[in-house]
Amino acid sequence: MYARTEIESMAGYVPGEQPKPGEAVKLNTNENPYRASDRVYEAIRTVCEAGLSRYPNALGEPFREAAAEVYGVDLNMILCGNGSDDILTILTRTFVGEGELLRLPRPSYILYKSLAEIQGARAEELRFDRYWQLPPEFAQPKEGLKLVFLPNPNSPSGTVIAKNKILELAEQLPCPLVVDEAYADFAEFNCIDLVAKCEKIIITRTLSKAYSLAGLRFGYLFAQSHLVEQMVKVKDSYNCDTLSIAAATAAILDRDWLRDNRRKLLATRKRLTDGMRQLGFHVPDSQANFTWNVHPTLPHKPIYEFLKRCGYLVRYMDYAECGDGLRISVGTDEQVDECLALIEEAG
Ligand SMILES: *Cc1c(COP(=O)(O)O)cnc(C)c1O
Repeated sequence: MYARTEIESMAGYVPGEQPKPGEAVKLNTNENPYRASDRVYEAIRTVCEAGLSRYPNALGEPFREAAAEVYGVDLNMILCGNGSDDILTILTRTFVGEGELLRLPRPSYILYKSLAEIQGARAEELRFDRYWQLPPEFAQPKEGLKLVFLPNPNSPSGTVIAKNKILELAEQLPCPLVVDEAYADFAEFNCIDLVAKCEKIIITRTLSKAYSLAGLRFGYLFAQSHLVEQMVKVKDSYNCDTLSIAAATAAILDRDWLRDNRRKLLATRKRLTDGMRQLGFHVPDSQANFTWNVHPTLPHKPIYEFLKRCGYLVRYMDYAECGDGLRISVGTDEQVDECLALIEEAG
């Protein structure tokens, strides 16, 4: 028992199952079913040829320049990370001290709670209402409250909180509000322009979902530059490597690839939503690359297990008092059709 008490007593975040390549159809961790832009692979080959004997650029400048151009923001408002999980860690370490409070909605991304626990901080989980909207307490100041996390679109529901509500929420809170936009590229809107308007709003992004680069590990955030300055002190000196910076820069600049990919996934998302509703599931309208599926009578776990035996992995999630359900990632049309047929067979 040498580890800190907080660590000994915490459960630890458990990521979705990662079977060996080719062993299963993965509809469980919201990865993109399509291959990333060819420009990404070219960029990686080019930097490899130049060699890897030097440290990378500590702030990921080429990516910051490209993203600043794409989103029309100042590059000092961007911080790069080793996946957006690294960004979320940096945020927690920067803003939340031992014994202080971090707020998150429930059900949402469970990692936020683990980050609070590692920090020796407390996590306050406030339940969404039945329409997946936030309860009034979510906006209320509280003793020790130092950071609020809100995935938008949310996981596992795929639902969104409207932009005017986000701004109102940030204005009422006494601390920064992190809007985790891991899925915003699949949504109808994003909140990037709110960052300049309100210093409490911080937006996090990842290349794992919408850019087909979960294996690369690259995420970033937008915040006002005085906050980015503080976070730079907290991050690892070289938290992004030369390969990922080059690849991420090429990815973010290929807007045509992103548009085509989004169009395909949104069409398949409709196919999945319609199909699941036809099978009797309740499915909230999703603005992400997955759907949340709750059947009013059938138990979910046996369906998950049946699918797994058939080589289809979906995510079974059990949020105790909030109920359980199946989160299914949008794959290709063929994968979704096959998955729907198997669920019908299981039911
Ligand atoms: C997938 C996901 C992330 C993590 O993205 P990485 O960049 O792969 O670390 C962050 N937030 C939410 C809500 C996610 O679903």
